[in-house]
Amino acid sequence: MSGESLMKLWGILQLDRHKILQDLYKEYEQSFPGNEFVFGCGCTTPELLLVGEAPGREEVKFSRPFSGAAGKYLDEFLKLAGISRDAIYITNAIKYRLSKVNPKTGRLSNRPATKDEIMSSRTCLLKEIEIICPKYIVTLGNVPLRSVTGNFSYNIGEMHGKILYEKTSGKELLIFPLYHPASVMYNRSLKEICMGDILKLRNIISENIKHNSRD
Ligand code: URA
Repeated sequence: MSGESLMKLWGILQLDRHKILQDLYKEYEQSFPGNEFVFGCGCTTPELLLVGEAPGREEVKFSRPFSGAAGKYLDEFLKLAGISRDAIYITNAIKYRLSKVNPKTGRLSNRPATKDEIMSSRTCLLKEIEIICPKYIVTLGNVPLRSVTGNFSYNIGEMHGKILYEKTSGKELLIFPLYHPASVMYNRSLKEICMGDILKLRNIISENIKHNSRD
């Protein structure tokens, strides 16, 4: 097959996946009415899928995951890992803003996800993984780690920087848990640990590229 035909096929695959994902998101929206949604975006044929927790106020404003303060830290993570945002798909375990009214200010603030919320959004995340079919999944923090694996005893403090393998729809996926960029933002002592994990991820990816180019 010529290079041009391959590019065309690749374009069709991207469009197909985009359409399937939009249908999945429409269904999800109908299951959780009355919420502020932000769905996944990016390259739909990536090697790497990145999964965060849930969108916040800024993400809702821009309709894009990680477009607020945590996104700036995520961009630093990606730069260190040698990964371009354009080459990956970014989504969240929960696709709507989790908020509560702050009794002091009367304004909405973000809140953590409950186990029930993680579980009820998990079906959508697993379908997304099946459609995107990445080689690697990087989870950011406890929520996506537990959602992707279904293992609620996992704790990011113990699991960060460790390679996990998970079988989804007959395909073995490599999962690499990282701390959430917001935890680095609030706890600067995690920065060095997190940088070490990211360099490890960079090595895993480049070793894989070398290995595949030898095949
Ligand atoms: N934090 C997340 O986990 N996801 C986002 O999209 C933004 C912040």
